[in-house]
Amino acid sequence: MRGELDAELVLSQSLPGGRATLEGVLPGLAEEALARSLGKGVVGRMGPWNLEGDRLTLTLTAENGRAHQALLALTRRLKVELGRTAKVGVRTVRALRYRLTFDVPKAPTAPVSLPIPHQLRFGDGQATLELEGLDEEALRDNWSDRAVTLVEDKVLRQHYQGKEQYWKLLSQSPARNLTVTEDPTEAMLRRNWLRNGPTKGKWFLGPLPAHLLRTMERIAIDEVLRPLGFEEVVQPHHDSFDILLKTGHLEGVPGEFYYVAEPKSRDPAVWERFTDLVKITRKVPEAELANLVSGPVAVSCYAQCPTTYWWLSGRTIAQEMLPLKVFDRAAISNRYESGGRHGLERVDEFHRIEPVYLGTPEQLLELREQLLARYAHVFNDILELEWRTAWVTPFYMQQSGAIGVEDETQRIKGTIDFEAYLPYRGTREASEWLEFQNLSIVGDKYPKAFTIKTQKGELWSGCTGIGLERWLIAFLAQRGLDPTAWPAGFRKYAGELPREIRFL
Ligand code: ATP
Ligand code: ZN
Ligand code: MG
Repeated sequence: MRGELDAELVLSQSLPGGRATLEGVLPGLAEEALARSLGKGVVGRMGPWNLEGDRLTLTLTAENGRAHQALLALTRRLKVELGRTAKVGVRTVRALRYRLTFDVPKAPTAPVSLPIPHQLRFGDGQATLELEGLDEEALRDNWSDRAVTLVEDKVLRQHYQGKEQYWKLLSQSPARNLTVTEDPTEAMLRRNWLRNGPTKGKWFLGPLPAHLLRTMERIAIDEVLRPLGFEEVVQPHHDSFDILLKTGHLEGVPGEFYYVAEPKSRDPAVWERFTDLVKITRKVPEAELANLVSGPVAVSCYAQCPTTYWWLSGRTIAQEMLPLKVFDRAAISNRYESGGRHGLERVDEFHRIEPVYLGTPEQLLELREQLLARYAHVFNDILELEWRTAWVTPFYMQQSGAIGVEDETQRIKGTIDFEAYLPYRGTREASEWLEFQNLSIVGDKYPKAFTIKTQKGELWSGCTGIGLERWLIAFLAQRGLDPTAWPAGFRKYAGELPREIRFL
């Protein structure tokens, strides 16, 4: 990457002696700053410069490095020098223009936008990004690096738009003789087990399906998590923006959150007009309400692992605790699924157990095998499901080489999806199976992002999301609602069932 930077430094006052004062020192300081900040083998130089009153303008070029780092280094040196010799400070430093030229292996297929002032051109396998008016904070904070990465990423994604994720079958249970073909949500609605919730994508589960959902939860805990030494935590239900910035969710899925707002005040006097309007109109005074609550301050739990990582942030885990294995079932997941909603299997509010594990790479690979074995026991021997597992990778990630797929020995970091056949959707071959849970080893991404350490060696993490509604739907779609047709292992776990409530 080539960087070319037109900078402006505003001094605390005009320099006594003007340009002549700088002539003797500036080139030397620039050379030193370039050499020190750009690192070995990087060619950098200062181009023309000019001083007018308190305004110093200059250009810096780095052939294969980060010119803004050299500018910051030069500013530091200039502050010391001018303070010492002329009692003059440097008030502000900014890049008027920062031109970055870098390789793009694939040409863009559509315009690429950026939300900060810039110009962008593509040609000859290269992109030239010219950022305008970067202040000191933006320079220090390396906005330029991130803008380049964003352009590269956007171009790469254009080439994979609409393509499905990479999917490779890992294991498949034997086909089972399944006779039920009804959509279980429809069946439960017909029998008044469920009622479509009072707000979007939510369901009210009556005593019977609630009992079945909790039975699934008990099976997961007793048959998978406790035997493997997982311990329960109880985490808060709201995720801070700070957490989601660290995990990447805030840039990844901002359109899927339910955002949390707070009252601006809990003083009844502040709410008087609102409550009076409610009393008189019996309607929600929406405009009034909008003025009385804050903007979003957090999001309702999207996944539980981010908050689990937050719990461990800044801590050093004692070696003998590894692998650390915990699970949360307290936070209820909320997602704005919009057009994708369907039945109880794709809802805006669902109940999930999320186990999270941290340890050495070897420990996590061993734990993955143990989890796979325990899950197989549950799905084969207790729920008697027809199910399969697949190694899945988003196409752009595969392309970036972050996760190996074809070579089995490379399948270390990544995600395994568990899918169940839903007869109501059609044939085994043509229909889409339901992802009812997954299992990931993520590597050191989250320990790094949250500064979680251990005494020595590498610390990796991963999680496995057990979606209870999905377990239930997979089971009922294959086995139906009649308990006498359920496998003995499940019936034993379920015990005595609540009565079916009759409505007249
Ligand atoms: P999908 O591809 O089906 O949208 P996902 O990749 O978004 O799933 P994850 O974010 O990996 O799912 O969440 C882990 C688990 O949480 C899923 O395997 C599933 O069991 C459950 N889950 C996710 N979204 C929903 C939903 N909208 N309704 C019910 N369960 C869900
Ligand atoms: Zn997770
Ligand atoms: Mg999803």
